[in-house]
Amino acid sequence: MQHIIDRFISYVIIDTESDASSDTTPSTKKQLVLANLLVKELKEMGMSEVTIDENGYVMATLESNVKHAVPTIGFVSHYDTTPDFTGANVKPQIIKDYDGGDIILNKEQNIVLSPSYFKDLLQYKGQTLITTDGTTLLGADDKAGITEIMSAMEHLIKNPDIKHGKIRVGFTPDEEIGRGAHKFDVEKFGCEWAYTMDGSQIGELEYENFNAAGAKITFSGKSVHPGYAKGKMINSMLLASKFISKLPKDEIPEKTKGYEGFFHVVGITGSIEETVVELIIRDHNEMKFKKRKEFIHKLTEKFNKKWKGQFGGDIASAEVKDQYYNMKEKVKPVFHIIEIAEKAMIELGIKPLIKPIRGGTDGCQLSYIGLPCPNIFAGGHNFHGKYEYVPVESMVKATQVIVKIAELTALPK
Ligand SMILES: [Zn+2]
Repeated sequence: MQHIIDRFISYVIIDTESDASSDTTPSTKKQLVLANLLVKELKEMGMSEVTIDENGYVMATLESNVKHAVPTIGFVSHYDTTPDFTGANVKPQIIKDYDGGDIILNKEQNIVLSPSYFKDLLQYKGQTLITTDGTTLLGADDKAGITEIMSAMEHLIKNPDIKHGKIRVGFTPDEEIGRGAHKFDVEKFGCEWAYTMDGSQIGELEYENFNAAGAKITFSGKSVHPGYAKGKMINSMLLASKFISKLPKDEIPEKTKGYEGFFHVVGITGSIEETVVELIIRDHNEMKFKKRKEFIHKLTEKFNKKWKGQFGGDIASAEVKDQYYNMKEKVKPVFHIIEIAEKAMIELGIKPLIKPIRGGTDGCQLSYIGLPCPNIFAGGHNFHGKYEYVPVESMVKATQVIVKIAELTALPK
């Protein structure tokens, strides 16, 4: 267990924060420090075909050790951390034999990780937790996933009696800014299917995610001196607020869960002359997703009709762009890849938690460019902030799941 702790810590102390405002890949140069370290370690442990391309994508191979034909499978993680919270100077703390009480992350700043707020903590009583010092995120998202993949490959290399087919590993930059799969060379990866090790609590297995679109609605107005405005001024900010009030008021993130979709206003910028409303649209169901996009267009049309006379043209315009789709469509035809992961967990005494993701992953984009790629737990909790933590036992289990999946895939038919 110490080995996995040391490995994990050696990764999280490297700052790999990504940056959405940059248009290079990786978005930040510092991500390459970890990428290059991984290349070095993959070579040292005896992996073959270890490569890093000009965009920082790391790939490597563990050759098959059986004679019969086995599908090539892959395991994928991202090495960047979110720009939502600082990932510089991470100082992990190790809590051995967690007693189920409050964990003081930072005495001076009075930052406490408490099971009275984060109830999930209680299921890890007696385990070893790795936390932050309260001033940074931890980066278990997704350096826990990287640690598990690396440890599993090392285990397979050291234990050649465990039979497996050809296995590929892939480490990507910029997942947190939605560009992890962007430049992923699926052909070069050459797998029939893969798994991202990027879920949260132990047991998670995910193959359904949102269909996602972003909408930008622009309202025009007419500015006139307020003292002489009667019957002349059109205030585009008021139009925008009226538009928002017409959206279904219970279909917002803070009032939905499970398979319930939503509209989510993420930004408004305005003046009298022009106001732009940005929102995101999410739904697991393809038909409902379509209807939500139509709703935006129809509502925009209504505004245009109503204001045509006074404004003398279209007063509003909507631009709706798809962002990603539900990977379920791509996983359903190859459902054995879920069954194998499920079986691996059950054989290891882990209860599979299959639930729809209320978001997207690298895997859902990869699924649409030819690599079906469900998501497996990496073990961490409270991602993207100072309360992030990971139980070491969950990382050990995730490592075992990878090994078991490799074994099960290689069973002769
Ligand atoms: Zn992640």
